[in-house]
Amino acid sequence: MENFAEDVARLCIEKYNFLKKTGKPNAREWTVLSGIVLKNADCSLSVVALATGTKCLGNSELSKGSQEEKGSRLSDSHAEVLSRRAFIRYLYDQIDLTLNDSGSAIFSRNDKNKIELNSNISFHFFSSQTPCGDCSIFPKLETNGPSPCKIRRVNKDANGHGIVESYYKDVHRTGAKCVKGEEAQDPHLPGADYHIVGPLRTKPGRGDPTSSLSCSDKIAKWLLLGLQGSLLSLLIPPIKLESITIGGNSPFSLDAMERGLYKRFNNKLVRVNIFQAKTVFVHKKGQQRSDPCPISIIWCAVRNRFCIQCIRDSSCRQKARDNKKEKRQ
Ligand SMILES: [Zn+2]
Repeated sequence: MENFAEDVARLCIEKYNFLKKTGKPNAREWTVLSGIVLKNADCSLSVVALATGTKCLGNSELSKGSQEEKGSRLSDSHAEVLSRRAFIRYLYDQIDLTLNDSGSAIFSRNDKNKIELNSNISFHFFSSQTPCGDCSIFPKLETNGPSPCKIRRVNKDANGHGIVESYYKDVHRTGAKCVKGEEAQDPHLPGADYHIVGPLRTKPGRGDPTSSLSCSDKIAKWLLLGLQGSLLSLLIPPIKLESITIGGNSPFSLDAMERGLYKRFNNKLVRVNIFQAKTVFVHKKGQQRSDPCPISIIWCAVRNRFCIQCIRDSSCRQKARDNKKEKRQ
């Protein structure tokens, strides 16, 4: 299965590389790439949906303007969520092909004229990094020498003077905050006690808080109910993911993925294979790439295809620069 995960990652990254430059990060920016791959009955693989994205609108941005303007804004532009939106467009196109007897790659109609998923096909998810939220909380690896996995804390005596330095094991953190209604909240204590695991979280971001749930929470829902959403569930059976592959050279924990995607909900129905590929997405976060790219690319395998460069705001890149400048001043 290792090779399979490698193939899924490579295909998604190759498809991204093949797309035009518009919407891709500049030299200082990073992004997340997600995609959905179809495994055909003959075992061949094809990318059917692909997206990049790092941004999410806050509550105040969503509530500005007329009713029509509010309804036409996209609140969640994380790559995982956009690739699922692209996949839904792919499903609509496949439904149309099925109803017109034009040969869908994934559906056929049964004796009762109902749409069925073809046998021996499956869908596989790729993301260049671990999803935000619960899946991203796990211990940092121990290393030899000065360890980045430990943080220093200066304890204080009864008079408030710093006296002792102690070391705590640290965890990878997520900027995603526990949903307010959750009983348990992050203690924000040093090291491993910074987070608790299990609660639903809203997407990370500074400033204006968002109501959008973290990608870990959303993917957990898709694993249980399918990717198709409630509207399409009237027409087609649930479309489940068979595997999830995370890109190479990025923090990853199988335990945290399993916990974040189904174990924390006591969900015994979900059967999904989780892998980390070695193949690396070149536009991922790194030393040279420290700014999140504010623009997204959305692509799907449909007829009359066009690649959508989803620009949240025509001046958003400039705005992001201005905000940064302001912060520095
Ligand atoms: Zn996310």
